[in-house]
Amino acid sequence: MYTKLSAVYPGSFDPPTNGHLDIITRASKLFPKIIVSVTDNSVKKHMFSLQERVDLLKEASKDLPNVEVASFSGLLADYLEKIDTFVLIRGLRALSDFEYEFQMALMNRKLNKNIETIFLLPDQSNTFLSSSMVKEIAALGGKTKDFVPECVEKKLHDQR
Ligand code: ADP
Repeated sequence: MYTKLSAVYPGSFDPPTNGHLDIITRASKLFPKIIVSVTDNSVKKHMFSLQERVDLLKEASKDLPNVEVASFSGLLADYLEKIDTFVLIRGLRALSDFEYEFQMALMNRKLNKNIETIFLLPDQSNTFLSSSMVKEIAALGGKTKDFVPECVEKKLHDQR
């Protein structure tokens, strides 16, 4: 274990993909506790409800004992203050993620100077994966088996 701090991995996870699981697994080796925190961001229209996304993440990460799944609404900085955890994990796929992630990390730090964001890179095979791509493939009747955990694949299949 490199650090004794816990870390929060926030996101929409609509739905969770192998890319998210890749980051969760890597983070779980670096920190004693990872709190995967699902946002109830009402600006985005979600395919799966908050509870469904929480349940899918719990199922997908059940073999990682130091991973917890929680949810929050409102400002991330306020949530971090509430749970007294200030290390954030985010994933970076490609250069295209950088600008948004960079802005968000700096904005979070502006909102609370204790917030530190750590970026992890997924395996190369997961760099092209996104929840929106998975949803699009599923909507068009394509196979998503190679891109998402088994429980997500089943849920996507049931929705058809
Ligand atoms: P957002 O929080 O912007 O709604 P997501 O829930 O899709 O986005 O993703 C949460 C975090 O996981 C973000 O930091 C995003 O860059 C990262 N992420 C998403 N897909 C992947 C992937 N395939 N590989 C690595 N990181 C990813």
